[in-house]
Amino acid sequence: MAVNGAISETYASVLARNPGETEFHQAVNEVFESLDRVLEKHPRYVDASILERICEPERQIIFRVPWVDDRGRVQINRGFRVQFNSALGPYKGGLRFHPSVLLGTVKFLGFEQIFKNALTGLPIGGGKGGSDFDPKGKSDAEIMRFCQSFMTELHRHIGEYTDVPAGDIGVGGREIGYLFGQYKRITNSYESGVLTGKGITWGGSLVRTEATGYGAVFFTQHMLESRGLAFDGLDVLVSGSGNVATYAIEKIHALGGRVVGASDSGGSVYDPAGIDVALLQDVKEVRRARIDAYAAERDGATYLPGLPVWEIAREHNVQVALPSATQNELDESHAKLLIDAGVVAVAEGANMPTTPGATRLLREAGVLFAPGKAANAGGVATSALEMQQNASRDSWGADYTEARLAEIMQGIHERCAETADEYGVPGDYVLGANIAGFTRVADAMLALGVI
Ligand code: GLU
Repeated sequence: MAVNGAISETYASVLARNPGETEFHQAVNEVFESLDRVLEKHPRYVDASILERICEPERQIIFRVPWVDDRGRVQINRGFRVQFNSALGPYKGGLRFHPSVLLGTVKFLGFEQIFKNALTGLPIGGGKGGSDFDPKGKSDAEIMRFCQSFMTELHRHIGEYTDVPAGDIGVGGREIGYLFGQYKRITNSYESGVLTGKGITWGGSLVRTEATGYGAVFFTQHMLESRGLAFDGLDVLVSGSGNVATYAIEKIHALGGRVVGASDSGGSVYDPAGIDVALLQDVKEVRRARIDAYAAERDGATYLPGLPVWEIAREHNVQVALPSATQNELDESHAKLLIDAGVVAVAEGANMPTTPGATRLLREAGVLFAPGKAANAGGVATSALEMQQNASRDSWGADYTEARLAEIMQGIHERCAETADEYGVPGDYVLGANIAGFTRVADAMLALGVI
């Protein structure tokens, strides 16, 4: 079959067979748009129906999660685990607890994860899971009961050599603790490698918490270097104020850049002197409060209720932007603001935060653009390092682990840049990431036969 026919027919069948799952469609389309060159060059992928196979999860698990709230009422949520592709290793990917989570959300995230994990060069397949549970406003005891109920079903589907979940939005160290505790209790085994993002004293890895943010900054550093630039002296906007955003800000400041805005789902803060990371962490992580509390306590900072952080680009020129909150948070109007404000590099700290239209505008304007599957792969890569430590019953020092992370991010950057060169589109990180990720998985699938 002609290459374009194979791509458009497979995409049409993805739309027909997964109705209403718009984020999943978007994620598939973004990868497919990069593949015509690679399929022309290697028709064996078309012959073996790799496109159709790669879009069909190996297994999708949906389950009821009943739990009792603090007032004694029974609550019901829905749990998901999509085991998408295990050609390269055990399924690997986080759990997201957020009221917006539907099967299509988990499928989009799982699909992205396949290629992201492949890009790390490490032996991990792709999967994702989560629930429509809303952690906001829940007590610690409610979170624990929910996690225990969630794991009571999930435990039978996961394992160190099968499927290794971790955190994502709404799932951090506290939740991983409760999930691991219940897994350990049910299975009567201390199988450390079954979950990553664990606490340092019970099998976790140093630098895992910081890894996604640090990794996104390392990747951006390499992109900037390709144009003879560095973070020193640059002004930056970072959306979000979770794990990814917080540690990206910390690393940018360490490299001499200045992050003048951050946000949460309620609004943004503009802090022209540069975000105070310790205060941000205290507000968001310790007090679990909203970001307006940051502005209230910080001299010179302003709170912009209901506004995305990109609005700050109207007032303040920025050279770098790291969307690190959630999917489709940076649209065409925001891309225009950033371009007018002089942005030279955009790197996705979150999964698919830039809409297709915004991505097109940024790329057309010659902005260096790093897709999430390359830029935010440092988190899952350090999860794989945590699995290595667990398997060898070892724990590494922070400097060594960060050096490994930096090396992996450099490798991902090289893989993307070299692949873009090879396919005649130098500097196109979207194409480079999609093709390099796809070919690694597709070659393994070919080798393993029709399974
Ligand atoms: N949720 C993270 C991601 O989007 C990390 C997954 C993991 O560590 O397994 O890559």
